[in-house]
Amino acid sequence: MAAPALSASPPPAWPAITPAVRLAYVLQHFWQAYPAAQKVAIGYEPTLGEVSVANGAGSFFDEASPYCPAPNWRSWGGRKIPFFFDSEPEVPLLTLTPGAAIINADVVSAAFYLLSGWQEYFSLERDRHGRFPYACSVQQQYGFVAVPVVNYYFDVLKTAVEHVSGQRLAPRQWQGAPLAGFITHDIDSLHGGWGTAVRGALRQRKLREAGRALLDKALGRPAPWDNLEQVQAATTHLGAPSTFFMLGSSQPAPNGTANADYEIDSVLLQRLRQLEANGAETASHGSYGTACDDRQLREEAGQYSPGQLAGNRFHFLCWEPRRTPGVVAAAGFRYDSTLGFAEHFGFRNSYCLTFYPFDFERAQPHSFLEIPLNVMDATLQHPQYLQLLPEEILPALQPMLGEIARFGGVATVLWHNDHFDPANTATGPRQFAEIMNDLRERGAVFLTGSQIVAELCGQ
Ligand SMILES: [Zn+2]
Repeated sequence: MAAPALSASPPPAWPAITPAVRLAYVLQHFWQAYPAAQKVAIGYEPTLGEVSVANGAGSFFDEASPYCPAPNWRSWGGRKIPFFFDSEPEVPLLTLTPGAAIINADVVSAAFYLLSGWQEYFSLERDRHGRFPYACSVQQQYGFVAVPVVNYYFDVLKTAVEHVSGQRLAPRQWQGAPLAGFITHDIDSLHGGWGTAVRGALRQRKLREAGRALLDKALGRPAPWDNLEQVQAATTHLGAPSTFFMLGSSQPAPNGTANADYEIDSVLLQRLRQLEANGAETASHGSYGTACDDRQLREEAGQYSPGQLAGNRFHFLCWEPRRTPGVVAAAGFRYDSTLGFAEHFGFRNSYCLTFYPFDFERAQPHSFLEIPLNVMDATLQHPQYLQLLPEEILPALQPMLGEIARFGGVATVLWHNDHFDPANTATGPRQFAEIMNDLRERGAVFLTGSQIVAELCGQ
């Protein structure tokens, strides 16, 4: 039986989220999405030669309600898109006059609402791991989790900017490629897989193989999931460098949740350095509890990376919206890649590019980049999540991958090392290769997290 949902305490006082705050946050990301754009003025006040946006939010951002009024559905870019804060649905979305453009729905407030994670910050709902549940999200309620709605809002803005500037704008490219792939592995277990190996062999009546697995275990040989080098070989074969998220604690959490089944020792560190020499990145997999504890998080990560901390993703995708962004920033990471729903693939912040999480306490962006997580192996076939058959996985993901390619985004894939076990035929190496081949056919370039940050920030 599932544990009852936790409830977050009410949020602390937060500074005013004025139209100017919303505009600055959203436009920062818009210009980053279209880096070659000539910067025309975009604001709420109609002025000749500018793009103006209808202010449709009223007093919503002065209050602590997690949910805004229901959206209106408008056609844009060949599909129906939900427009929040759209107070005049009968008026056409765009009014273009010589030298000026008016957007008649408040796409700035709508983009801010989704990108900032407003619903999570002000919702009191949490699941048994303290996470904001997909079941409580507007993405679930209105059925748009696999549509990057903020990118569609930006497409409206782009059309208005193109009209005013006379310049055609192309989406961001990644080293000349139309999208980037971010291939990641959370390493929870290096000593497991014996049971799977023995059961798999017995199922196929391969008694000798089962006996060999039992003997290997008895002799203390490497376990089936002690496979970091094999994972790297598999991803390299498919054209991608891997980013390994390593746990820094083998202590179970106070509630009994397991962390690593391995210790960090000199042998493991040596192996990681070799993987890095072959093109991989090592990053932090913040253990259970560190989503609210920056000191512990930094201490754990420091065991792998004595220098500057690169990236992080929390174990179990733990993320307390009120505290975790501040924890990631205080720990000093350059990027995080936790923000996806465990229950469903797609876009938790309705955006397929990297973004700076919003700091509600200071009403400004945080300093680190979020590389949103789009799909995790466990999501696809799990009693509590989706239950897709192996052959259903790629077709289910293709519309989402197509959206990422359309807007020059990043496709972030989490495939745990145990899912590279050949014994896994449900969400195993074969299904991973199918996703990779689809991304390759779309022309993706594969980058590590730090390479993605460098592309965006020029570092
Ligand atoms: Zn994990």
